[in-house]
Amino acid sequence: MRWLALLVAAIAWGQTVARQGDVIRVRTPGPAAEARMDGRTVRLFVQPEGGRLGLMPVPAEKAPGRYNLELLASDGKVLSSQTVIVRDARFRSQNVVLGQATAELKPSPGEMETVDKFLAAVTETRHWREPLGLPVAGCMTSPFGVKRLANGRPTGHYHGGLDQRAPVGKPVRAVADGVVRLVRSYNIHGGTVGIDHGQGLESMYLHLSRFAVAEGAVVHKGDVIGYSGSTGRSNAPHLHWSLYANGVPVNPLQWVRVKPCAARR
Ligand SMILES: [Zn+2]
Repeated sequence: MRWLALLVAAIAWGQTVARQGDVIRVRTPGPAAEARMDGRTVRLFVQPEGGRLGLMPVPAEKAPGRYNLELLASDGKVLSSQTVIVRDARFRSQNVVLGQATAELKPSPGEMETVDKFLAAVTETRHWREPLGLPVAGCMTSPFGVKRLANGRPTGHYHGGLDQRAPVGKPVRAVADGVVRLVRSYNIHGGTVGIDHGQGLESMYLHLSRFAVAEGAVVHKGDVIGYSGSTGRSNAPHLHWSLYANGVPVNPLQWVRVKPCAARR
């Protein structure tokens, strides 16, 4: 956990160093209610062990540079501030080959809206704790953050999650405790499960062939929530999963370890 050592060292000097796609765990012993950085405000929640904790995402596309992280009182008054240095994560580009029918898929009615609504909800109870688990055992076929080209053309999007190799029908497991908020079959996302882990952390699992839970189910880390597949905009069976901190996709590799697959020839 080299980044953690770096982060702790940096905080000791009154500075935080983060990379694009990271989550800054904002911890404070004081009464601050929110943290703000570059116009984004996140809530700080009282923790059972004392103090407060909030998750400040550094979006994958945030320009590298120096930013101010402020702690705010409940009336919005700035209590303290420190410097955050955002480093370039050097995400690569990756071409994805899609058949014409797949490339032309349109979202199901309400697909984007229900996903956005799920991602916008921040709930009070913290269910998650570290370390998170891996949803499947397979190696990583595509990391978070790569700039995506579809059939050689830039899409303007980056990969908002992590892909793992998984044949159709492998059990997919919750990465942490939480409440299942989304169990839907969508045109683009395919078979989708979304879990709210509480206090701003959420996970999504896409392209599933089958579901093992219903919306509203309380799950624990490692519980089977569905089965891998290749539904939606997918060119081969795999599991795409993503982590969100206060609605922003963040790099799962800051939270879990997974081996990259050996390059195919
Ligand atoms: Zn993916």
